[in-house]
Amino acid sequence: MRLLLVEDDSMIGEAIRAGLKRDGFAVDWVRDTASARRALETEPFELLLLDLGLPGGDGLTLLEALRARGAALPVLIITARDAVADRVAGLDAGADDYLVKPFDLDELAARIRALLRRKSGRSEPHLEHLDVVLDPATHRVTRDGTEVSLSPREFALLELLLERPGAILSRGQLEERLYGWGEEVESNAVEVHIHGLRRKLGAGFILTVRGVGYRVRPAR
Ligand code: CA
Repeated sequence: MRLLLVEDDSMIGEAIRAGLKRDGFAVDWVRDTASARRALETEPFELLLLDLGLPGGDGLTLLEALRARGAALPVLIITARDAVADRVAGLDAGADDYLVKPFDLDELAARIRALLRRKSGRSEPHLEHLDVVLDPATHRVTRDGTEVSLSPREFALLELLLERPGAILSRGQLEERLYGWGEEVESNAVEVHIHGLRRKLGAGFILTVRGVGYRVRPAR
């Protein structure tokens, strides 16, 4: 899952990026509103983590502009502004959640998972398809009740495919969502991870749609 972090404080930004990376998220980090605007126009993000006090313009203004043009991306405000009036203003400007600094990284990750769940229309915390169950919180995957050990990239790729079991995702779409800026992507990386997943989950669990991409096997 690829997230955009907008945060001008180096220490806080670094801590959030490192913490979320450990939790399996690909985090792109910008420090001002102009860069955030550019990034949002050109890259596919699943969620926006938005500080409010930023160089080049307030985060709230960015959020209002984003909603004005109809962007449905979930937005979580992370700020030191803890007054009730600030929280109300943030949520009313279109934020989906609001977390006051300093916060615990585990809580941040849990709130992100909750927002992503809501975004994909799920209420239950697990992703389940056929005999495979994936738990985004614990990073555990089981097949027919037996735990399967996946690499972090295999896990992230499977999560993307299970989010919308009917969707076909192209190699390019998977690469964009799996890797952040500056991360080296081997040309056949997606194929290698698909191969690994098929070995562990059964050859027929992920289908290749020739010339288009990949999807999970339909339930019937
Ligand atoms: Ca700030």
